Formats: sequence, C-alpha cells, structure tokens
Amino acid sequence: MNVPEALHAIAETGDGYCWYCDRSLPAAAEAVQGGWDVQRLPGERVASIILVCPACQREKEELGEEGFLRNLSLRVCNSTC
Ligand SMILES: [Zn+2]
Repeated sequence: MNVPEALHAIAETGDGYCWYCDRSLPAAAEAVQGGWDVQRLPGERVASIILVCPACQREKEELGEEGFLRNLSLRVCNSTC
C-alpha cells in the first residue's frame, strides 16, 4: 500500500483519526511528514484500513504489540475512572 497516497485520500475526507488514541489526522502533507502510518487490519470479508499516529507508532515499536495494547487500556482507564 502506498502510505502517502492513502493519507492524502483519507485527509481529503476530513475525518481521519488515530485508531488507538483518537488523535485527528492533520493535513495530508503534515501527516506524511509527521510519520502517520496507514495499516491494514485483516477482517472477515474485507480488510479495514486504520490510521496510526506517530506517537502510537513509536510506542508500539518500543513496547511490542501486546505491551502497547495493555498500556493503552491502562491509559484509557486512567482518564475515565
Ligand atoms: Zn495515536
């Protein structure tokens, strides 16, 4: 998948959000430069496309998928309860 192209397409629709932290996608050029990523999640019938912001991307690399998701649910819990 061509990430910059996908970012442009999503930015044009005006409602892109990071899949993990809900940060909203900036303008396409800024998103490409900032290191936003577009990833494919395998689905039952069609793969869905998700956006990942640079901060989540970095955390995911550092902690690994499992650690990242655990950390994420802690963070969400802290802000709501
Ligand atoms: Zn994020």
